[in-house]
Amino acid sequence: MNWPRELKIKPGYPLKDKTTFKIGGRAQFFCEPGDRRELNLLVKAAKGGKFPLFVLGAGSNLLVSDKGVKGLVIKLSSACFKKITIEDEFVRVGSAVTLAGLTKSAKERSLCGLEFLVGIPGTVGGALAMNAGCWGKSFGDFVKEVEIMDQNGKIKCLKRSQIDFGYRKSSLTKYIILSCLLKLKKGERAGIEKNTAGFMAFRRQTQDLAYPNAGCIFRNPDVPAGKLIELCGFKGRNTGDAFVSQKHANFILNKGRASSKDVLKLMQLIKKRVKSKFKLNLQPEIKIWK
Ligand SMILES: Cc1cc2nc3c(=O)[nH]c(=O)nc-3n(C[C@H](O)[C@H](O)[C@H](O)COP(=O)(O)OP(=O)(O)OC[C@H]3O[C@@H](n4cnc5c(N)ncnc54)[C@H](O)[C@@H]3O)c2cc1C
Repeated sequence: MNWPRELKIKPGYPLKDKTTFKIGGRAQFFCEPGDRRELNLLVKAAKGGKFPLFVLGAGSNLLVSDKGVKGLVIKLSSACFKKITIEDEFVRVGSAVTLAGLTKSAKERSLCGLEFLVGIPGTVGGALAMNAGCWGKSFGDFVKEVEIMDQNGKIKCLKRSQIDFGYRKSSLTKYIILSCLLKLKKGERAGIEKNTAGFMAFRRQTQDLAYPNAGCIFRNPDVPAGKLIELCGFKGRNTGDAFVSQKHANFILNKGRASSKDVLKLMQLIKKRVKSKFKLNLQPEIKIWK
């Protein structure tokens, strides 16, 4: 494959350290485009070479196969994808901005609503793709419009009414998300700080952050998946170095050199047991790249 020369394509690039799980093999090709023009060139070249495209955010909801990923992995990390501009209650934010950066900027301008995102280790792009949320609130609720690049390299602006946001999913995963416009509300800075601290404390109390992980592994059916897994006696059980957390049974921890094979095997065991005990089919919340 002859990639345009100006693009810094890295063949056989290790993805493990680009994920919070610290698991996975190499990307056949990897690139961090410097701007939208380079991204456009990349998308067209990948299409011409018939390479599947994968967009990587902070890798906090991902399990990458030990065998790696066949295709082109794109990470938007340059400054041009990290801009935040705030006017009154409207925030325009690039997809590579971290949720920590976004919530900090909102707090500094006394804008409230996004405090529930504190502690979610993703980017704006990942949060839009996954409609990230917790405790009954979701990122999509604040979205006015989203700017995307399609598979032909064309940039479009999608209005909220053109986007489907569901429970930990959205219709945006078929695009490369570039930025979005959010509508927040004016609030009291002290109140925002108090809410943020409350959400963070609750997260520390309930989630297991001592080892690399990818957050909740399974989607919640009508009941929390963690409760079902716990009732099946899985807390502390392992396959290799992949352990079910003692604190939150829907978290799998990488306690050393867990492989994606270990995690997938443990997930299979959990699914099988939950199915036979509760007649429920658990579905993965994490994205599995192979
Ligand atoms: C400790 C911990 C706690 C967590 N808590 C929560 C929680 O409370 N609630 C919650 O919802 N999630 C939670 N997560 C999961 C995860 O952080 C979120 O889903 C987050 O929004 C994913 O963002 P990311 O940038 O890491 O996306 P990635 O993991 O990199 O990617 C996830 C998906 O989004 C797509 N994507 C990423 N960026 C783009 C883009 N620019 N354009 C198009 N597609 C893109 C990817 O292709 C992939 O399909 C947690 C994870 C951890 C490790």
